[in-house]
Amino acid sequence: MNSKIVVLAGDGIGPEIMDSGLKVLRAVEDTCGKTFKLEKFPFGGAGIDEAGASLPEETLAACQTADAILLGAIGGPKWEKMQDTPEKGLLALRKTLNLFANIRPVSVSSALLHLSPLKPEIIEGTDLIIVRELSSGIYFGEPRELTETMAFDTARYQKDEIERIIHSAFKIAQGRSKKVTSVDKANVLASSKLWRATAEEIAKEYPDCQLEHQYVDSAAMKLIQNPKAFDVIVTENLFGDILSDEASVLPGSLGVLPSASHSDGGPSLYEPIHGSAPDIAGKGIANPISMILSVAMMLRQSFQEEQAAQAIEKACDAVLSNGLFTHDLGGQASTAEFTDAVIQELKGA
Ligand code: ATP
Ligand code: MG
Repeated sequence: MNSKIVVLAGDGIGPEIMDSGLKVLRAVEDTCGKTFKLEKFPFGGAGIDEAGASLPEETLAACQTADAILLGAIGGPKWEKMQDTPEKGLLALRKTLNLFANIRPVSVSSALLHLSPLKPEIIEGTDLIIVRELSSGIYFGEPRELTETMAFDTARYQKDEIERIIHSAFKIAQGRSKKVTSVDKANVLASSKLWRATAEEIAKEYPDCQLEHQYVDSAAMKLIQNPKAFDVIVTENLFGDILSDEASVLPGSLGVLPSASHSDGGPSLYEPIHGSAPDIAGKGIANPISMILSVAMMLRQSFQEEQAAQAIEKACDAVLSNGLFTHDLGGQASTAEFTDAVIQELKGA
């Protein structure tokens, strides 16, 4: 039975929100009709402290044989100046597991409309997914150089790397409103020209779907002008990083956004989109929604437990609608209080 979950709690608020996510997971096990096997391993700063490496060998080996991986968050000032850093561990984990497709759903709960700096009528009903290429592009391209007076990076894409991420986007779009917006800078960048041409080619395999192209500068503007115009956005590594942070303004806090990263057939990794939030770590006030919704994504995408996933999403929304908010959302609830309320809601469902 596929039920082995490797748990990487990580640093900062990582362990606090992981605790919430795992409690919620335990609360839906009855619905799933199975007991998940949870195996905890050190990773990130905790890996450096406990096992001498940001990605200890044992941790990597466990991830490679997992059915899914849950990650809290990594990093913090303590490890910033070290030779090995938590971020290096994360990049190595993504690369080794070939996690090329990063899926970031962004929807806006009606209970949170008042929090966004944008007008409620603009963001109400927003429901989009950013599909970000995670394993290539300018983050990895060689050569790169940095001197005191000159620096350059290389934005490199192989055609097959573009093909597989465009396929991922279309497959997601098929289960939704069948519209894919491919974001590039094809008027300037060679890598974007190949991106656009490849997207056109792959689109022919999905005649039920519609493909549109947007330049990244214009997409950045439209994302906050009219977010409802988007359904599935697919884009390269750097543009995806920037657009998804921009999109996090829509629901009002980073603390409510989950993500999934997929490979071709290997284990997927689920994690909040935010970092380890060292400024609030240890205070018990972090918003656990991002982690709880990451657990829901895992249940849906790695274990086909749609019912349990929906129950969790509804429970979070119900608790927010009842007016219980953590500090980032302008409320007073602690991480534990919010989590308990979600579990009560699940029990009542
Ligand atoms: P990284 O470099 O790892 O992306 P970052 O510098 O973007 O990290 P985050 O750790 O994501 O920073 O935090 C940004 C801000 O959002 C911080 O003020 C942090 O306290 C807040 N924040 C992030 N996640 C949460 C959360 N789950 N609950 C409450 N506040 C959060
Ligand atoms: Mg960040």
